[in-house]
Amino acid sequence: MWIRGLIRLFYYAVMAYLAWSVYRLFSGARRRGSRRPADKPRLSGTMVKDEVCGIYLPKENALRETIGGQEHFFCSRECRSKFLAGGDPKDRTQ
Ligand SMILES: [Zn+2]
Repeated sequence: MWIRGLIRLFYYAVMAYLAWSVYRLFSGARRRGSRRPADKPRLSGTMVKDEVCGIYLPKENALRETIGGQEHFFCSRECRSKFLAGGDPKDRTQ
């Protein structure tokens, strides 16, 4: 019967439409998913101490200075220059 072929054709058309809808849904979800991490600032969660003023700040936001092979972190240029000018505050006598 020719009507059966027509129904089958219609059935394939519906299946193709559904598959396309599902594909669109998934590709859209993937786009949203990949965009989300970029919205958040990428922080490792590591906190470092500013040896001059003693505050803790995220490593990514800190100014880094390598002195004598050792890394030092500062919250600002002021603190860094103070450290470079005065050396280790522990060794300083007031
Ligand atoms: Zn500081």
